Amino acid sequence: MALAHPEVPAARRPGRIWTVRVTGHSDRSASVVCSAACRMPPRSRDVTALRRFAEAHAAAHAKAATVRGDASCQCRVQQCSAHQGTKVLCGGTVLLVLRHNPAVGRVWTLAEVCERCAPLMTHARVVGRAAERGAMTGPTRMT
Ligand SMILES: [Zn+2]
Ligand SMILES: [Zn+2]
Ligand SMILES: [Zn+2]
Repeated sequence: MALAHPEVPAARRPGRIWTVRVTGHSDRSASVVCSAACRMPPRSRDVTALRRFAEAHAAAHAKAATVRGDASCQCRVQQCSAHQGTKVLCGGTVLLVLRHNPAVGRVWTLAEVCERCAPLMTHARVVGRAAERGAMTGPTRMT
C-alpha cells in the first residue's frame, strides 16, 4: 500500500474526506449526493434549495466529526493539488477544513488535513481541529 508516500508513519490513520455535491440532470433537475451515503432530499428543479441543503449538510458533518489527532493529511493524499506550487512538509495539528469554490458552486468538501496545508488550500476554511494532545507533556511549541 505504500505507493506514493512511504515516509508517512504507518501509525497514522488515513484522513477522512466527505464530499457533498449537487449534480444536474438532463431534465434540468438536480440532486444532492453525499459521499457518506447519507439520506438526501429527492431530486428537484429547485437548485437553489438543493445548494442550501448541501451547504448545511456539509456544515452538519463538520459539526458532528471528531477530528482525530493521528489522522494523516488528506491534502497530501491528493498530492497537495489544493495548493499547487507551494510544497510543504505535512505536520502539526490535524485540522478539519471545508472547501467550497463559489465559482463552481456545487461541491463542498470536508477533509482532515494538516496544519501546514490548511492555510494554503484555496477556498478553504478551518471548521475544526483535533483536541490538543500532550497538555501534560511539557512545551511542544516550536519557535
Ligand atoms: Zn452526509
Ligand atoms: Zn497539502
Ligand atoms: Zn498536509
